[in-house]
Amino acid sequence: MTTIHTLGYPRIGAQRELKFALEACWRGETDVAALEACGARLRTANWQRQQNAGLTRVTVGDFSFYDPMLDHARMFGATPARFGELGNRLDAVFALARGTPSQPALDMTKWFDTNYHYLVPEIEADTPFRLDASVLLAAVREAQALGHAPKPVLIGPLSFLYLSRSATPGHGLLARAAELAECYASLLAELAGLGVEWVQIDEPILALELPADWLAAFAPVYAHLAAQGPKRLLATYFDSVSAHADVILKLPIDGLHLDLVRAPAQVQAFLPRLPAHWVLSAGIVDGRNVWRCDLDAALAVLQPLHARLGDRLWLAPSCSLLHVPLTLQQETRLDVELRNWLAFADEKLAELAVLARALDHGADAVAAELAVARAACQSRQHSPRVQVNAVRERVAAIRPEMARRASPYARRAPAQRKRFQLPLLPTTTIGSFPQTPAIRALRAAWKRRELGELAYLGGVREAIADAIARQEALGFDVLVHGEAERNDMVEFFADKLCGFAFTEHAWVQSYGSRCVKPPLIFGDVWRPEAMTVDTARYAQSLTAKPVKGMLTGPVTMLQWSFVRDDLPREAVLKQLALAIRAEVLDLEAAGIGIIQIDEPAFREGLPLKESAWRAALAAAVQAFGLAAGGVADETQIHTHMCYSEFNTVLPAIAAMDADVITIETSRSNMALLDAFGEFEYPNEIGPGVYDIHSPRIPSEADMLHLLERACSVVPVGRLWVNPDCGLKTRGWPETEAALAAMVRAAHAMRARL
Ligand code: GLN
Ligand code: ZN
Repeated sequence: MTTIHTLGYPRIGAQRELKFALEACWRGETDVAALEACGARLRTANWQRQQNAGLTRVTVGDFSFYDPMLDHARMFGATPARFGELGNRLDAVFALARGTPSQPALDMTKWFDTNYHYLVPEIEADTPFRLDASVLLAAVREAQALGHAPKPVLIGPLSFLYLSRSATPGHGLLARAAELAECYASLLAELAGLGVEWVQIDEPILALELPADWLAAFAPVYAHLAAQGPKRLLATYFDSVSAHADVILKLPIDGLHLDLVRAPAQVQAFLPRLPAHWVLSAGIVDGRNVWRCDLDAALAVLQPLHARLGDRLWLAPSCSLLHVPLTLQQETRLDVELRNWLAFADEKLAELAVLARALDHGADAVAAELAVARAACQSRQHSPRVQVNAVRERVAAIRPEMARRASPYARRAPAQRKRFQLPLLPTTTIGSFPQTPAIRALRAAWKRRELGELAYLGGVREAIADAIARQEALGFDVLVHGEAERNDMVEFFADKLCGFAFTEHAWVQSYGSRCVKPPLIFGDVWRPEAMTVDTARYAQSLTAKPVKGMLTGPVTMLQWSFVRDDLPREAVLKQLALAIRAEVLDLEAAGIGIIQIDEPAFREGLPLKESAWRAALAAAVQAFGLAAGGVADETQIHTHMCYSEFNTVLPAIAAMDADVITIETSRSNMALLDAFGEFEYPNEIGPGVYDIHSPRIPSEADMLHLLERACSVVPVGRLWVNPDCGLKTRGWPETEAALAAMVRAAHAMRARL
């Protein structure tokens, strides 16, 4: 019998129960017992789903009230002393994850190339590792009490250390590997004591181009874990690990999971040399995307593996299903054709079950299921909604010079200076203004069709007029319309572009209680009509100052969507770029002289292997260039980036050749700006001087100080003054106070020049 299993399951609940339970608890409306009960219900339901799908072992340890990486840090006592006494279980978790009145939270960063954020453990040189596995052991017992055979999942010791941060300068975490391995060995012994037969140990860092010393640590660390205990399945995902095959194949483990969706060819590096007692877990169903599996193609891959391995072949999704929504069941409003092309977590388990039966009993045994899947794949392949010839022709007609401005920055800058006559250190904002309850209510009423189109547009215009009046009063040099009509910077455009679809409930956890509902790119993307020209033109009609047009860039649109898997991502990126380009040109024609194309996700989608970065960055630069490149010298293109470290990709950012870039810097105390300075970033730059993530109102003196630093790094003629990011999550009183102080700081700095 072919074994099927899953590396992890969505924990948020079909109705986002965990989110609401967490937030109610944080607001003090419910107690910890209610939250614990919600967690238990979700675990029970998830295990039931797995059992119903025919999984012989259920995954345990993938549930978390905030983040598994944080849970591991607590399990090994690897929490920083700065928090003092941490209190009981959930209070401790939330203190570390969300901060306390006296301590900022642990840092958060993206889990590889996903949109999931984990908490970065801070490990001090003098913190001893101490095992306290009570939470995991309780979950194992809980599953057993419900009649399941649990397969606990652990983040492997080397991935845990590699993804953590040393809180003691000069103290390398690799030096702690042996000590941590002892804890893992004890943990495995405790799991064996509970009768656990298999444990899954995730080492996703094996998909990276690892430094030699980290790679060399695998053999000794895993030797520690070998003594006794459950059988060990080493799980890798998100990319090929074949470069490390020699190391992996010598490890004292009992099985290996490979991602055969992202990296199908890697199986050849392992299969001929697979130790005779190992199982091979084939990650055959895409855990990162929402499309139905082509079961015929999957079977063609699996059959030779099955012929060779027999029952030693296991089937699984390519990675944890955390990254996809839970179930299609609730998508009642999605059109039938499109719905039929999709598979979420529950449906992916069902696909695995069909594949297993086909292997065990022959394809005839599941002929009906295979036929249904085949028909769905064919309908998707041949649907006229998926392929639009005009779009394909436009992409084929892209010429390299379309992705470049006609003149270099040195020629554009004087033309723009002459046109806009801006003072030194021009002041501006990133785009959005506070989304008041009234604005949210307006959009919601319109979405529910309780408010007619005209009344809605009237309401949006009122918000725009209000934003313009406030910016005029504050004395801004370059204004924005305020984005009152946008709920989300990607969804707003996705809603107006062809080729995108929306689900109702397809939420995916981003971090803690936060979830996102990415749009689906199912077909060729094109722009049926102008998307922002009306609002931009209206805003500009209210003021003599320039108003920036405000768009989301192609890379960010791609990165924050579920993307079709029947075209290379680069092709989809080009389609998006051409759609945004058309909008840019329409804005320019409507007299909008400054256009911002936001790319906060610019470096998020970079491949895990750095050797592949160059090509990926070139594609991203080309996409931005296509979006921006068609305008005249006098039209000023801005871009905005935030969220991540950009210093490693500065050459690519410079190659984007935006006239002005605004970046988030105040959280790093301008360290990022130093990198731009050292690199001698050639165009204009607006380092954020107001940290909009904090409710604290910065003083004029604070911001003046930051401006002084900025002036010492970048020639003053190329500096702008702006906040770190959009202001949509803030309230008006704090925003106005902070912006007034920011404008005063800019004026004070100007007076000194
Ligand atoms: N223009 C957007 C805003 O101001 C940018 C958001 C972002 O960078 N994430 O809200
Ligand atoms: Zn931002």
